[in-house]
Amino acid sequence: MKQSQLFTRTLKEAPKDETSFNAQTLIRAGFIDKVGAGIYTFLPLGLRVMSKITNIIREEINAVGGQEILMPTLVPKENWVATGRWDNFDALFKLQGSDKKEYALGATHEEVVTPLIQKYAFSYKELPIAVYQIQTKLRNEKRAKAGLIRGREFLMKDLYSFHTNQADLDAYYEKVKDAYFKIYERFGLADLTYLTYASGGAFSKYSHEFQTLISDGEDHIFICDKCHVAVNREIIEEQNTCPVCHNPKLKEEKGVEVGNIFKLGTKFSAAFDFRYRDQEGQEQDIIMGCYGIGPSRLMGTIVEVYHDEKGIIWPETVAPFKVHLLSLNEDEAALKIYETLTQAGIEVLYDDRNLSAGEKFADADLIGCPYRVLISAKTIQVDSVELKKRAEGKSELIKIKDLVAKLK
Ligand code: ATP
Ligand code: MG
Repeated sequence: MKQSQLFTRTLKEAPKDETSFNAQTLIRAGFIDKVGAGIYTFLPLGLRVMSKITNIIREEINAVGGQEILMPTLVPKENWVATGRWDNFDALFKLQGSDKKEYALGATHEEVVTPLIQKYAFSYKELPIAVYQIQTKLRNEKRAKAGLIRGREFLMKDLYSFHTNQADLDAYYEKVKDAYFKIYERFGLADLTYLTYASGGAFSKYSHEFQTLISDGEDHIFICDKCHVAVNREIIEEQNTCPVCHNPKLKEEKGVEVGNIFKLGTKFSAAFDFRYRDQEGQEQDIIMGCYGIGPSRLMGTIVEVYHDEKGIIWPETVAPFKVHLLSLNEDEAALKIYETLTQAGIEVLYDDRNLSAGEKFADADLIGCPYRVLISAKTIQVDSVELKKRAEGKSELIKIKDLVAKLK
């Protein structure tokens, strides 16, 4: 992509009404645009990052047998009445259709997925089933001040699994837990992300949150350094030692919940009277699990973790482009390199704009592609470019003919 053609530009200053680092920086760098509190447009750069995040999640959830579907945002009131959540789910947006019927905007989808699976799974032969979606959720959040970390409209990957017995759910739950760690690993967040024990409701002692440590985190968690697990604030009352090694010295930290997994038991299947027939033809309860991850919250979290005073430092797996190519008045040679790299399948943002070196450097640092390739009169003299990693201070001269191999 040529930067002269890119919609949009970087901004000199962050909007005054944004207080979170992630929103200020993503807006200034041209990844997102603010529409209202907790409401954002994803611009070309931001959408590239978001697609990479969702594709990684998709790959890992497909690998544990999740089948992707897409459920509606508009959900009839009766589905929510059936589970008792029409009046009890705070932050539910409600509206009326032209048919005078009432609807909720999807804040989570147990109310849609449970009757969906019920239409198809009558017998043990059809189970287990795991379906998921990556979809826009709407919640009337009271505090939407953390940028992408707490949107009122945001993306969620929500996976739901349906089982014939508790042991089958328990085994699947562990598989998803592993898949989640693979996902956070691929975002470069594994070291900072703690499996966090939270209270489990009626069907299990614990549920699990995945909390990533950030300095501006809204959640308080209590971590065990030895086991790399944590306890959340609500259960520290009953569980004030490490749930794994019983270490009593837990350290309080601030985190952001980047995912959670939950054994639902029969809570939703019972609400819809969803049962299956076993081998003997007897009716039995369906046992459910649900598993959420917030891709847009993750994008904000990655920015909170990976930055310096100049801007973002994207992990390579989610960067909008791998390479930011800067030409200092050597447009002909730069264009050739741009074409060669692009043909080799390397994603390049080529700064072909008529701006000063200082402005180009500042934008490259702000946007945060992992590699900066600079071509100038000086480097050309020795048939080279200057290659610098965004995360490192030092640069090296690389022969132009070796560049593709170096970057591959
Ligand atoms: P929180 O306690 O932070 O409000 P939650 O418990 O309401 O989160 P869930 O309903 O379990 O979250 O949603 C699943 C995932 O969706 C969360 O782990 C998080 O990653 C993401 N998520 C939830 N609410 C938001 C939001 N307002 N903006 C962005 N992502 C969100
Ligand atoms: Mg919430």
